[in-house]
Amino acid sequence: MSYVGRFAPSPSGPLHFGSLVAALGSYFQAKSQQGQWLVRIEDLDPPREMAGASDLILETLEAYHLYWDGEVIYQSQRHDFYQDQIDQWLSSKEAYFCQCTRKQIKQSGGFYLGTCRNTAITSNEPCSVRFTVPQAIDHFFDLKYGRIEIPKSLADEDFIIKRRDGLYAYNLAVVLDDIDQSVTEVVRGADLIEPTGRQINLYHAMKQPEVSYLHLPLALDANGNKLSKQNHAPALDNQAPVAALLAAMSFLGFTIDAHIANAKIDEIISWGCQNWSLKNLPNTMANTANF
Ligand code: GLU
Repeated sequence: MSYVGRFAPSPSGPLHFGSLVAALGSYFQAKSQQGQWLVRIEDLDPPREMAGASDLILETLEAYHLYWDGEVIYQSQRHDFYQDQIDQWLSSKEAYFCQCTRKQIKQSGGFYLGTCRNTAITSNEPCSVRFTVPQAIDHFFDLKYGRIEIPKSLADEDFIIKRRDGLYAYNLAVVLDDIDQSVTEVVRGADLIEPTGRQINLYHAMKQPEVSYLHLPLALDANGNKLSKQNHAPALDNQAPVAALLAAMSFLGFTIDAHIANAKIDEIISWGCQNWSLKNLPNTMANTANF
């Protein structure tokens, strides 16, 4: 089976150094195996999005010479596809409506205990849709970090696939799209280790082979916070990409010599594809970004 990887940014703002690490790691992992590298815009949550961010993200990828294969897919245009699957699961009882509020769940200990599993709630009331977890996924294997344990309370929980406000949940859309796009391996930041077990549940429900997973170390700011729009991580500079590119490559474990430091961007990227190695990738799940 040929390799298909992807980069799946949410357009909550322009790309920053942390997102460049995820873009580059997934790109090198795909291209070092002569694979395809897809780009999917995960615009599922309009209140958290910034107008124009999707275009800006694609411009930045081009400025960094990270050219994607095929068409860019936008999750905002795929609601019918997600709803069809939810409807199928509702009728097969693999999903159910739930009226519990966040406050109620908090009062019962912070984890959802399946309260609405066997009630006959219909969608007339404001409600979310939960996936019925048939068998808790309590671990998975990551290509870098090895066996990862998932806490039991989290693994057991029937999780939300459609929110009370009508928005489709990330875990649902990411898996349906990865299957639909024939993605064979998911490479992304270590902040997404936690939902991986839930996503594996959905592969099983779809009777699809699991993908392989590679999580990349998270980039932290000087205060130890994850670089993010909320923490005001600066946008990448599209006009002068080389400095950030080299810093992100060092972060991913490359040793940059003077020849590469002074090379043109195309040469840097193809050198990166040739010299990419999981062995050199740091073992820690988070590191301070020196940029
Ligand atoms: N859209 C997610 C994010 O920007 C990434 C999804 C994924 O790679 O699974 O954090």
